[in-house]
Amino acid sequence: MGFTLAERLRRLPPYLFAELDRLRDEVAAKGVDIIDLGVGDPDQPTPAHVIEALCEAARDPATHRYPAYSGMRAFREAAASWMKTRFGLELDPDREIITLIGSKEGIAHFPLAFVDPGDVVLVPSPAYPVYRGSTILAGGEPVELALREENGFLPVLEDIDPQLLKRAKLLVINYPNNPTAATATVEFFSQVVDFAREHGLIVVSDAAYVEMGLDGYRPPSFLEAPGAMDVGIEFHSLSKTYNMTGWRIGFAAGNAELIAGLGKVKSQIDSGAFDAIQLAGVAALTGPQEPVEEMRKIYASRRDVLIKGLESLGLRPCPTRATFYVWCRVPEGTDSRSFASRLLTEAGIVATPGVGFGEAGEGYVRFALTVGEQRLSEALQRMQQLSW
Ligand code: PLP
Repeated sequence: MGFTLAERLRRLPPYLFAELDRLRDEVAAKGVDIIDLGVGDPDQPTPAHVIEALCEAARDPATHRYPAYSGMRAFREAAASWMKTRFGLELDPDREIITLIGSKEGIAHFPLAFVDPGDVVLVPSPAYPVYRGSTILAGGEPVELALREENGFLPVLEDIDPQLLKRAKLLVINYPNNPTAATATVEFFSQVVDFAREHGLIVVSDAAYVEMGLDGYRPPSFLEAPGAMDVGIEFHSLSKTYNMTGWRIGFAAGNAELIAGLGKVKSQIDSGAFDAIQLAGVAALTGPQEPVEEMRKIYASRRDVLIKGLESLGLRPCPTRATFYVWCRVPEGTDSRSFASRLLTEAGIVATPGVGFGEAGEGYVRFALTVGEQRLSEALQRMQQLSW
């Protein structure tokens, strides 16, 4: 029997990483030893005290029941106190914070709360594909704002078509940025607040990598910009900070009406994050932060190996001081898909073609620093055998 997919699903592009996994598996099936620098999934374990906290919480039958929709108060309080320590922000854990089943869940559901069919959502390009996909699922129209190297991979807000701006409802920003690894200042965030006020936009800030500043750099929160709480919501993730991608835990912080809207959607769709995982999240946010500093050192040192190696091969990686990605220009005369596919088929290296993150990503590939230095060196040696 033939089933017809809903129009909204037919409008969705294939999910980039699912596509990549399929290609990688095809090559691996031929017996090739793959060095996977594709998906941004940390290779290090979750800190031991967080695992202990989960085990203990899971033994308590009180955690076995349905969680509260907006999340456990203990987790929201921990998130609020973390936002205070880290950014000096005072947030009300009852109205200005909500627990998420990973930040992807919140980012994906948010447009359902505020985007009507025909509304425009201004999404960066290149970008995490979920901004685009969730806009389409909500019936909205994603419009890409190109992030160009010459502008430090920041969107040029003045260049947005005024006609589109009239229909625009949300503006999505993501710093430190995936995939370019670019960072933004509080001054830039203040310009975003002014722009959002002038044009009646809601700002969605994705801060998944805010704890991945390297070399002593501490990236700011969008909510630090004066007035940001009037116009925005920010998505935080425990995934990369504490090597917890599989646990599915994060939170949103920001304007109370925006948090309430998201909460209303979630109450129709999910039944909250497992309480034991939220209690483990409390341990992560309020416990010792040395493992986070360790993690930063590991990525900084891998970044140095990869950037130095790529440069010595004549490639031009962008300098980076945040995230665990290296965004690198492809050699002259090729494009991002052909270069990534050569790396895979001729060297067994998975890298993500820039165009997969949006049209403005053409001309680049993204390497994730999710393997050890020895494997990175091996990847570089293999690349040396290729000519371009
Ligand atoms: N935002 C960005 C930019 C990401 O790259 C990711 C994951 O890779 C996420 C959000 C989602 O993270 P999680 O759902 O694990 O919190």
